[in-house]
Amino acid sequence: RVVVGTKVDQNHVNWVTAYNMLTGIRFTVSRTNAKMDRELTDADFDAKHKFSFDMYVPANFSLQHLLSFTGNELTPSAKYDFKFKDYAPWVFRHLRTNFGLDPADYLVSLTSKYILSELGSPGKSGSFFYFSRDYKYIIKTIHHAEHKFLRKILKDYYNHVKDNPNTLLSQFYGLHRVKIPYGRKIHFVVMNNLFPPHRDIHRTFDLKGSTIGRDFAEAELEANPRATLKDLNWLRRDQHLEFGPTKKQVFAEQMQKDVKLLQRLHIMDYSMLIGIHDLEKGNEENLRDKTLQVFQPGGEQGEEPQPAMLTRTPSKLESARKAKELRQIIKNQKPVPMDQMALKMPDELHDGKKNNYFYTDDGGFRATHEDDNPGEEVYYLGIIDCLTHYSLIKRIEHFIKGLANDEPQISAIPPERYGDRFIRFISSVSKTREATTREKAEESSQ
Ligand code: ATP
Ligand code: CA
Ligand code: CA
Repeated sequence: RVVVGTKVDQNHVNWVTAYNMLTGIRFTVSRTNAKMDRELTDADFDAKHKFSFDMYVPANFSLQHLLSFTGNELTPSAKYDFKFKDYAPWVFRHLRTNFGLDPADYLVSLTSKYILSELGSPGKSGSFFYFSRDYKYIIKTIHHAEHKFLRKILKDYYNHVKDNPNTLLSQFYGLHRVKIPYGRKIHFVVMNNLFPPHRDIHRTFDLKGSTIGRDFAEAELEANPRATLKDLNWLRRDQHLEFGPTKKQVFAEQMQKDVKLLQRLHIMDYSMLIGIHDLEKGNEENLRDKTLQVFQPGGEQGEEPQPAMLTRTPSKLESARKAKELRQIIKNQKPVPMDQMALKMPDELHDGKKNNYFYTDDGGFRATHEDDNPGEEVYYLGIIDCLTHYSLIKRIEHFIKGLANDEPQISAIPPERYGDRFIRFISSVSKTREATTREKAEESSQ
């Protein structure tokens, strides 16, 4: 796997922000997890807690440091003051449990050294995306309006994902805000990365069911082979979600339930993100080596690799023992030694994917033939970007675009129709290889 994004280290412009985000997450998540579990109350959905961090971080910042929170033993060289807000911590704790996340694992993933890689701002919205080092989690900065909206719908979202263990909607694990002195407020969510750390994704599509502006210039693919393609590219390539009868039905039913919620909450502009792994192509190289190169510090080009991490793969038993130790360490709030971090299996399945029907084929959803036998592709898919409320802005956009284009085609149509069109499009492209071949034969015989 090619390195995705830019590693956020001390020289990166957003290092301080990223550092603050992770420090805040670590602090607030451990704080909530340290308490005895309890039932949620209505107040939990509105809860917010504010914390002030005022600490020294040494120039040669170490993992121990991040985990221990005391800079006393080390010579301080820079001071980081920031404020951190934690929203609905109990609700998110329950959500993480609901999605099957291990609390210790979550913290370790989000607080490893060389913590994040930044994907810059892939969308038009100006949001930034950061991957955790092990590639399991994504931090997405969101607009204040999206933040307010998520808080407003949190209870509906919570009830929905509880009732729908196979939901295709983005899995939200935390909602927070950071603010540095004189800086602006940055709201962000932690969510699942749909794509796996251990498998090459050969093509990525972001589908909305609209055709206007939904074309990625294929000429640019050469320079940017991992680019996300859109609806028109999908249609032009005659691409399908190859699901046999059983999977097709389960998929369609779940998508309908999820979209129904989005319609009820007046949400729009979401997409079905689809990453396709072609089993015939497989992974380019030995996957474990590659994973390690990407995710271990020093594993990138031009840097000295760290032999202990690159050459040694822990046994299952060893990993289990280490995981137990890690849990204990985190419980006791002691710093985690670097060598133990390195022993964490990099290709472990994302926890949030273990219980969900759509993420059970090695973290994805494998294509099937008409007889329901496994096919040649694995899909990594889900409904993303689902925090856009059909607000005034969208209505204005609707008005402006409506002047120029065929009305039903534009993407900013009201949520009810947006959802119907979305379902229609995604359902229409769910088709087995056999069905596609048959249809082509019929067409040419006529
Ligand atoms: P816009 O509003 O302009 O569409 P945005 O900033 O809200 O953009 P998203 O649409 O959420 O961004 O995501 C942009 C891209 O980031 C997606 O097309 C996809 O490539 C990647 N991405 C987003 N969410 C995930 C996820 N959960 N897993 C993997 N990749 C993701
Ligand atoms: Ca989007
Ligand atoms: Ca968006």
